[in-house]
Amino acid sequence: MVFAFNFTASKNNQMCGVNIRYEFLQALLKKVDHFKEFKIQLLTRNSKLKTLKEELDSRVAAYDLWAQRRRHGQDGHNNRKLWVLACMDERLPIDEALGIHVDTPAGGGDAHCFRNAGGIVTDDAIRSAMLTCNFFGTKEIVIVQHTQCGMLSVNATDLEKMLRDKGIDTDNIAMDPTLPELKLDKGAFAKWIGMMDDVDETCMKTIEAFKNHPLIPKDVVISGWVWEVETRRLRAPTRDAEKRARTDVTSAQFGVKVKQPPRWS
Ligand SMILES: [Zn+2]
Repeated sequence: MVFAFNFTASKNNQMCGVNIRYEFLQALLKKVDHFKEFKIQLLTRNSKLKTLKEELDSRVAAYDLWAQRRRHGQDGHNNRKLWVLACMDERLPIDEALGIHVDTPAGGGDAHCFRNAGGIVTDDAIRSAMLTCNFFGTKEIVIVQHTQCGMLSVNATDLEKMLRDKGIDTDNIAMDPTLPELKLDKGAFAKWIGMMDDVDETCMKTIEAFKNHPLIPKDVVISGWVWEVETRRLRAPTRDAEKRARTDVTSAQFGVKVKQPPRWS
């Protein structure tokens, strides 16, 4: 940036019949000073401006504040005011897919991250999102599901049968032993598992579920994405067959012949 003019500011200065306000000139000159100061800082960053003691004092204070974030409610938000919901799958690298650092390095921390089978909406996903959005300063939700997901690989009814064959009564399961009030209706177990027919459809319905939930504030920005395991690329969920063609996104591609129990309908 080059300032090609040079003049002295004074009150009631007049140029070409236009009153130039003294305050405006002062502000302009201040900006020039700031620019010069910034340049000096860049040139001397590692040498003259601070002692190591000062730098360490500052770093320790910043780390203490980071460690105590949760004491500060909305003001103690994570770096990006972000909650991520993602499938637990080891082939879905959250940091790489989203270009963030979820929990590293120490002293960083871009997001709260919740992972479950499928990266789908569940009661505990809602519980966690409710807490971070209402009490810990989170303003954005990003949902990440992925192609080749294990949740496409088998029909939930068959999974339930396998458990029943082991002698488990799936109509009488304590969903949370510490919360006996949380119960499934008889016959709802297979639906509860949350297997998918189509990951793009499921991702879009997951977005809607959070957008419409009364515990999630309306000003929270919500988006959902599909990570292509085959190509290591992120894309928006889509019904466009051409955009999905290079990946496995349906249970039919896994050889599942019967539709899943209707959790998403
Ligand atoms: Zn998955």
